[in-house]
Amino acid sequence: MRDYSLKCELSASERAKREIIHRTYRLQRTNINKEFNQYLIGKYCNFTRMANFWDLFDKLDGIVDLSDPDTSLPNSIHALQTAEAIRKNCNLPDWMALCGLLHDMGKILYLDGCDADGTSKDTQWALVGDTFATGLPIPASIVLPEYNSCNKDHTSDSLGLPAMNCGLDNLSMSFGHDEYMYRLLKANNHKMPRQAEYIVRYHSLYAWHSGTDYDYLENEEDMKMKKIVKEFNKFDLYTKNDALPVRWTHDLRNFYSKLIKKYISDDMMVNIPP
Ligand code: FE
Ligand code: FE
Repeated sequence: MRDYSLKCELSASERAKREIIHRTYRLQRTNINKEFNQYLIGKYCNFTRMANFWDLFDKLDGIVDLSDPDTSLPNSIHALQTAEAIRKNCNLPDWMALCGLLHDMGKILYLDGCDADGTSKDTQWALVGDTFATGLPIPASIVLPEYNSCNKDHTSDSLGLPAMNCGLDNLSMSFGHDEYMYRLLKANNHKMPRQAEYIVRYHSLYAWHSGTDYDYLENEEDMKMKKIVKEFNKFDLYTKNDALPVRWTHDLRNFYSKLIKKYISDDMMVNIPP
């Protein structure tokens, strides 16, 4: 799982896939810094057009995550695999299954993206991949740390470090589907609990939820919320199975439609063109 190495014994197709992953991360580290992050948020996070939830969700059929070594299936299938594994675990709340369905839905931004910003289907470097706090040195524990030195903020000594325990919400994580979807949900006045916001916003921040490098930045709420993000991560990572893709049925659509009505709405404000 999550093996990114370019070792010699790879098949030609697996090697080509890993090279695309490396390129995606190299461009992410090179281009995304605090300043560029603000530009992306300003450009993409104004939600002024009404669209139907399922019309948007179904657009995930059209995108495969270029940074993911563990699946080559469209993102809509990964979303359902994650959601269904959570739903079948009776000890977990219904909103968490809904999080499974929509945690990666921010990737619909590819419909409004462009190559220059890394938000298009062909580039994706500002859409996918593990995230990091901008304006700071990037931890060596992050995936493919060899590209950290390409980052302007990582090598700058003029930015100044944030206050200890300032809290994750007071930092600016590298832009991608996490931040985009969090802002989309907030703009639509979702009714899920605070834990859901952490899952959506920080599920790609592995250096925080699966490491210790950002512990010095955590506030009390972050410390409390880490447990649920880690719990969610198990479903996100370990339900990927290209040999056993789940299929939508009428009953499943009904089940998730009820959750969408309960916690969000059939229609959402977005920025995606019709
Ligand atoms: Fe994700
Ligand atoms: Fe995911």
